[in-house]
Amino acid sequence: MDTTMLAERWYDLFSRHAADLYPGRYTPAFCAELAEKAIEVRRLAAEKGSTIVAHNYQYPELQEVADFVGDSLGLAFKVRDAKAARVDFSSVHFMGATAKMIVGDAARVFVQGDPDVHSCSLVRGTDHRWLERRKQLDPSLVLVTYVNSDAYTKALSDYISTSRNTASVIATAAREHPGSKILVLPDKFLGHVMKWQAVNEKGVDPDRVEVYANPFGGYNACCYVHEKIGDEAPERALEEYEDAELMLHPECGCASSCLYKLSAGILPKGRVYYLSTEGMLERARTSAVKRFVIGTEKGMIYRLRKEMPDREFHPVSQEAVCDFMKQNTLDKLLASLRDDKYEIVLDDAADPKVERIENGVIKVNRAVAAKAKVAIDRMLAIR
Ligand code: SF4
Repeated sequence: MDTTMLAERWYDLFSRHAADLYPGRYTPAFCAELAEKAIEVRRLAAEKGSTIVAHNYQYPELQEVADFVGDSLGLAFKVRDAKAARVDFSSVHFMGATAKMIVGDAARVFVQGDPDVHSCSLVRGTDHRWLERRKQLDPSLVLVTYVNSDAYTKALSDYISTSRNTASVIATAAREHPGSKILVLPDKFLGHVMKWQAVNEKGVDPDRVEVYANPFGGYNACCYVHEKIGDEAPERALEEYEDAELMLHPECGCASSCLYKLSAGILPKGRVYYLSTEGMLERARTSAVKRFVIGTEKGMIYRLRKEMPDREFHPVSQEAVCDFMKQNTLDKLLASLRDDKYEIVLDDAADPKVERIENGVIKVNRAVAAKAKVAIDRMLAIR
């Protein structure tokens, strides 16, 4: 496809599926600029043998230029199965690091932009010293850690979990470690929803499950994007769209209050679902309902609309935008492919606690990555 055709195609696609999500962004001139860069990105990717993957929360142009779009763990497994020599990851950098832990030295993994700012409020809200101290005080403590976490936290953990399977992982941990306390981290909203499910749907003793809360203040241990989706948003959405289903990511700030409202009959049962982003795609494909309100980062709406143009998808909040994710751009992807930066490498001498950038390379401690992989593999045995 030549630049003009691609620019016209993208203008049409983005006008239909993303105009309300990013008002004023996709003008014909901007789409022409993007198309030119995208063609160069694909040329360089072919030349360098790269597989490009993009997280569901990326801008539409990054989703379009990617070979695969998905959630963090789904992409990590795509990377493993693609058996590409090189992977360019559009996401926050700890997600690229998770993929690197899984593929090891079998593939080179690159992330875009300046990794110093490619953080996440979940990572910033997790205190390594406190976790180490808790483990010292109670060596039998079992850590169930959500995949959105840094390498060192994963390495301290017994199991990694996803937004789809945390309740099952808690139940397995409870069975495999009788008598031990289970600490669920780092996201407090997801932690409470998953504890509720583990207790009410899988029979886990509530006294054995603790949800992590950042003991030193500062950043809360939660996703600041989902936190912004406040308590009133679900009711407002269901009133506005009377025939819609509400699909909420369990990281949402309204998650716990929605659980209460559902049990108290304030919110209608059968219209509210807690789902991972991949779970949202599955539910929308199979539900008899044609209209959905989506409680997660807005990038996901573009993917849903594009894959199911016969259905309607509305964001529960136009404020649900992740500034960390949105630092990725086609310009940065192009620079990354052209200049071979920023590569994530496993290094024996790297700082175990912080993934540092040195000379255009992000170093993850090899022993830490190996330990983290044990916890990831344990989760996979549960799926
Ligand atoms: Fe972190 Fe939330 Fe952004 Fe994901 S959406 S990278 S969890 S802040």
